Amino acid sequence: MASYEEVGIGDAVLLDEISTSAFVDNLRLRFNGGKIYTYIGEVCVSVNPYRPVTFYGKDYVNQYKGREIFERPPHIFAIADASYKAMKRRGKDTCIVISGESGSGKTEASKIIMRYIAAVTNVAGQQEVERVKNVLLQSNSILEAFGNAKTNRNDNSSRFGKYMDINFDFKGDPVGGHVQNYLLEKSRVVLQQQGERSFHSFYQVLFGATDSELSRLKLKRDVNSYHFIRQGGTPRVDSIADKADYKTCQQAFKTLGFTPEQIDAVWRIVGAILHLGNIEFSSGGDETQIQNPKVVKNIAELLHVSPDEVRKALCHRVIAARGEVMEKRHTESEATFGRDAFAKAIYERLFSFIVEGVNKAIEVRYEGLAARYKYNTVIGVLDIYGFEIFEQNSFEQFCINYCNEKLQQLFIELVLKQEQEEYKREGIAWQNIEYFNNQIICDLVEQPHKGIIAITDEACLNVGKVTDQMLLEAMENKLKGHNHFTTRKLSPMDKELKHVEEFRIKHYAGDVVYSIKGFLEKNKDTLFQDFKRLMYSSSDPVISDMWPEGAQDITMTTKRPLTAGTLFKNSMVALVKNLASKEPYYIRCIKPNDQKSPVIFDQERVVHQVNYLGLVENLRVRRAGFAYRQSYDRFLRRYKMISQYTWPNFHGGTDREGTKILVEEQGFTNDVKYGNTKLFIRSPQTLFALEQGRAKLI
Ligand code: ADP
Ligand code: MG
Repeated sequence: MASYEEVGIGDAVLLDEISTSAFVDNLRLRFNGGKIYTYIGEVCVSVNPYRPVTFYGKDYVNQYKGREIFERPPHIFAIADASYKAMKRRGKDTCIVISGESGSGKTEASKIIMRYIAAVTNVAGQQEVERVKNVLLQSNSILEAFGNAKTNRNDNSSRFGKYMDINFDFKGDPVGGHVQNYLLEKSRVVLQQQGERSFHSFYQVLFGATDSELSRLKLKRDVNSYHFIRQGGTPRVDSIADKADYKTCQQAFKTLGFTPEQIDAVWRIVGAILHLGNIEFSSGGDETQIQNPKVVKNIAELLHVSPDEVRKALCHRVIAARGEVMEKRHTESEATFGRDAFAKAIYERLFSFIVEGVNKAIEVRYEGLAARYKYNTVIGVLDIYGFEIFEQNSFEQFCINYCNEKLQQLFIELVLKQEQEEYKREGIAWQNIEYFNNQIICDLVEQPHKGIIAITDEACLNVGKVTDQMLLEAMENKLKGHNHFTTRKLSPMDKELKHVEEFRIKHYAGDVVYSIKGFLEKNKDTLFQDFKRLMYSSSDPVISDMWPEGAQDITMTTKRPLTAGTLFKNSMVALVKNLASKEPYYIRCIKPNDQKSPVIFDQERVVHQVNYLGLVENLRVRRAGFAYRQSYDRFLRRYKMISQYTWPNFHGGTDREGTKILVEEQGFTNDVKYGNTKLFIRSPQTLFALEQGRAKLI
């Protein structure tokens, strides 16, 4: 059997030629030989194998545990271990940033990392550690039930961004954690494309709940009875076991300490949403009315509110004008809009409630010796949506791609810029590598007053008067001449299409055309107050507590809530700040084909991803640089036993001089540079030889 090393080249830094095609050829060679991991220095590139693989077992855990990255063939375990070691030995907070497009293997990678950490941490009968690990692992099944869906790209696609912190005590044992969720794709609750599904939870309950559970939810075991979840036409998916997943999810709720009342409320809300989708309006005369009052009754029973209030909230809006409170009847389209907004909002709120519950279960408990937690360190794992370019791109893609710009910027800051700056600081001759700094695109989106988000917010202030079309014009005026922004120009001959309805952003990963349609509404994210009051009025405290703002009196002037765009921007700024404060590790995921096949390596698709992940640029910088660097004192401490001149101690001068003598004796002079405080080693082989020399002697 071929050894791991024999298939292609494990660290792309060692490739003879640095080019996209050489890089991708190597990935293909390795993929075909079953090697899905390849390094660029310490960045781990992972190609989705699309089949069960055998290298995550206990035997592999042991091979990577406590080793240095370059000692073993490339593996995601090595990155997890490096991050764990940095945390444990050096007391550093670290984070592992996983990026790549949908279906490339990000979520699997995050789970593999969590399982690795669970496997290498102490057990020794410590119940609390076991509990935390169990909760960390089980939280995935709940978050996936409510936040994942089948899309055309991935049967188990995460439709939210997730950042999870794992907290460790001074012994390096996990003692808790925290999940932060980002932008759930809630539009999926009311609308799915052909071939896709809504969130798994809806199908899990229909296929997995018992007959009596279903009848309490007033549901039929028939997906096609429910408008909100049947639009994609694929209620069943081969790779998804909804019935078993429902059981797992129920069990996980219990493990995480959700109360029976809470679990009951969760499924009643899911049921209420299914019923909501079947509400039909008619506008006989000018009175918008509900055609199926029976459905209203079901919703009211499930949410523990009065049916009359449900009907009212769906058909009217209460408004306060000049101190007077009036009821205004919805038109049919307003009512439909309101119904959908309501369904989306309660699902989103439910998801946040679930995340909160997960957090309560995994938060660090300061019981016992509080001092024990003083040395609390953190490993963060970020599993967030990759760059999206669809045929139709809307507000959601705009947010997601902005997120990727921010992460790319962080990557540039940390990996490329810091690398160059360190060489400068250390006085090492360095040829500047040109790289594209995407700050300009981040500014285009997020700058106060002039950025796309600010312009959109301003337009949203003028309720009812501004159209998407006018928003686009405002953007055009303010951003004219920007190198990365254009509005789509239509031929003046084309009389049908009078309106310019799209804008284009030149992202670092390529051009994306966004349709302006729906931008204002999605940014405003209106939910009529009536629905908030309705939910607050629930006699079920679990539901009522989810909607505290419903307590507000109608006549009080409400503060305008922050827009969806601004909320998202704020959360991204906070995320980047958090990541930047930690020592980063990177997993870059690549999807080899669109058929979910274990044998197809689609060259063109991979080249595209390699380009927009900036991997070759990353490689150039790494290659121009050095694979390994270490301060002289630490280097000497680690390798002094190799040389007779430095063992057991070097007495002839400074650490730097000792290092030099050792390096010269071993014949590595041509592969190193001496910096002001650190030794720089160019190739991993030298490091590997040093490690082997050391291993022989200890
Ligand atoms: P993403 O989160 O990037 O959208 P996922 O992690 O959900 O993608 O991966 C999509 C699918 O690809 C998984 O459901 C699984 O079938 C397969 N897959 C991904 N990574 C691996 C892996 N390391 N080993 C085996 N299968 C994998
Ligand atoms: Mg995912």
